[in-house]
Amino acid sequence: MTLQELGESLHGCQRCKLSGLGRSRVVFGTGNPKAAVMFVGEAPGFHEDRQGEPFVGAAGKLLNDLLQSAGLSRAEIYIANVIKCRPPDNRDPEPDEVETCKPFLLQQIDLIKPKLVCTLGNWATQTILEKKVGITKIRGQAIRLKDFVVFPLLHPAAALHQGNLREPLHEDFRKLKAYLDQLNTPAPPGQPAQPSASATSAECQPAQMDLFGS
Ligand code: SF4
Repeated sequence: MTLQELGESLHGCQRCKLSGLGRSRVVFGTGNPKAAVMFVGEAPGFHEDRQGEPFVGAAGKLLNDLLQSAGLSRAEIYIANVIKCRPPDNRDPEPDEVETCKPFLLQQIDLIKPKLVCTLGNWATQTILEKKVGITKIRGQAIRLKDFVVFPLLHPAAALHQGNLREPLHEDFRKLKAYLDQLNTPAPPGQPAQPSASATSAECQPAQMDLFGS
């Protein structure tokens, strides 16, 4: 199955109760289908539901600025959400909705094969890591999973609602840029071309892989 076919297969999806709670459309994802870097958010909001694309409202504009600050562009990355339909009144996704929709996110990752998955906020981070760990504890760190590296970041919408999170959000993207810069810097002769990274969780291993070299 291709990414496009997967997206088409979800048109009109009614697998969870969000299909009957006022969503306009399924918001599958957008961007480079062969992206090395993928961003994962929580769920579509009002503007995303109307336009059918993730991160197109105020949070999307902020994300675009943050991407630029990290040397990335929307055209080269892929963006999707854990949940493909807008929860009513932008409430948090419920566990049964995450469980039902999560397989489609995992299929997207399988098809795109990103080397780095940047999770935005608690929901995306916990879904990808399959672990109840607070975003404030592990944000800004590269964590290796079996097939890719996870880089948790604060969610731009959180910083829009809580001004005190703006600077920490920018700090997260500065760390992301530093991580990407390390990956793009040739190692001195005789030394491995690996970035350093730390992890706070015993189960989360720091990234020690060349993301863009192979
Ligand atoms: S949120 Fe996901 S599982 Fe639920 S209806 Fe939308 S696409 Fe289907």
